[in-house]
Amino acid sequence: MKKIPTQGIDKTTLFAHLDEISKEDLDWKNGRNFAYVYYPGEEILSVVKEAYLRFFSENALNPTAFPSLRKMENDIISMSADMLGGDEKVTGSLTTGGTESILMAVKTAREWGRVKKELTGPPEIILPATVHPAFYKAAHYFEVKFVLVPVGKDFRAVPNEVEKAITPNTVMVVASAPSYPQGVVDPIRRIGKIAKKHDLLFHVDSCIGGFMLPFLQKLKYDIPPFDFSVEGVTSISADLHKYGYASKGASVILYKNAALRKHQFYVYTAWTGGIYASPTMTGTRPGGAIAAAYAALNFIGEEGYLRLAKSCMETTLKIQAAIAEMKDIQLLTNPESTLFAIVSDTIDIYELGDEMGLLGWQIDRQQMPASLHFSINPAHEKVADLLIEDLKKALKKAKRISLNKIGKNIQIKTVRTLQRMLPGHLFDRFQEYAASKSKVGGKRSAAMYGLIGELQESGNLDDMIKDFLHQLMSPDPEDKSKSTS
Ligand SMILES: *Cc1c(COP(=O)(O)O)cnc(C)c1O
Repeated sequence: MKKIPTQGIDKTTLFAHLDEISKEDLDWKNGRNFAYVYYPGEEILSVVKEAYLRFFSENALNPTAFPSLRKMENDIISMSADMLGGDEKVTGSLTTGGTESILMAVKTAREWGRVKKELTGPPEIILPATVHPAFYKAAHYFEVKFVLVPVGKDFRAVPNEVEKAITPNTVMVVASAPSYPQGVVDPIRRIGKIAKKHDLLFHVDSCIGGFMLPFLQKLKYDIPPFDFSVEGVTSISADLHKYGYASKGASVILYKNAALRKHQFYVYTAWTGGIYASPTMTGTRPGGAIAAAYAALNFIGEEGYLRLAKSCMETTLKIQAAIAEMKDIQLLTNPESTLFAIVSDTIDIYELGDEMGLLGWQIDRQQMPASLHFSINPAHEKVADLLIEDLKKALKKAKRISLNKIGKNIQIKTVRTLQRMLPGHLFDRFQEYAASKSKVGGKRSAAMYGLIGELQESGNLDDMIKDFLHQLMSPDPEDKSKSTS
């Protein structure tokens, strides 16, 4: 086991160590990634960081202890509500991220349903197949039943399918603006009408689009209405830590009115430590993330967000236009904003991902269908030309490899899918793990196929992934060092 070092190590060694262990992390400042980090440039980043550090120790657990945090939080909610077409009745909470915002929306719907509906079973939420997994997680945590409905060929939710799925136990319908994997905005207006007609809550997941679409609308890009200006919308999630350029740990969940938000709050009055009241999932809430979000909104300002949105959108259109010229790859769909996916009928798209990886680009693999995902951020403006060139190069190589592939065996396919879904270094660890588990043993790849064979017999891929997650979240067996070296 790791031990806390008996004597603390000095600052120079510590920071050298931190540099060392982060050597293989994503190179996000150079725009080599298409997810996880959204980089608005050094100036904004340094201001937002400074604000974070000033409130590093403060805690928003008790809203009366730090009036500064309360003011910042209320202002963030108000500014976000205004940006998202809300009136003065719209209110909400600051959360630690999109997932928490979504958890809160689902929990609120459950409580609302219990009070407002005569439910005859578990409350149900209707989810188009492209929604973020945070909704399944919420359903799992809160024992809400989710009803999946198919999306159309364009990957947009189908209003008719949503309506057909409504039962007396339905409490909420969900749509995305846009969906993360495909980047398309669901038909919010038509779903809003259905929600209203059936007296249901309607959550729009605008986690990724919330701080992008409003500015694209102002820039006159063709973005359909998706926010509180649409009748029937009762809540919206929007992540400050994506296109809001705040620090990680910041998102808003907004509700049409305060009566709805009340269903989100948690109170316990019989605690020996006093009356406990908490708006969201977390207890202690970091002041730094609140101050950073507040700083981002105020320092960047509307003009700054418009400039950044324009940069992202122009870069997106440039890359998309270049892709349209390339044989063998196509856009999966016709997305409205700065997210898109590419597919191929002629090559194995994951091979293209691998080849791009060798050229230093980190591109996420997706499934159903096999595709590569791109979320464009301002860091990509200066590397767009290089990206296009490298795509062409990688495509040539991927084409050659795809032609040579046999890949009929289902076992090989499963392994390959895993290989492509997991980032390279995780797959390596997965292989080691597989080798250690497998009766087959011996050569790594053989062990892997053996393991998958065994798994197919027991039919439990979920369990394997959970074990693997356990492995990842445990000390590295290779790391024998006592402390930091
Ligand atoms: C990122 C995202 C989420 C989840 O947000 P986290 O901050 O990762 O918890 C939910 N929905 C969509 C559409 C997203 O893009």
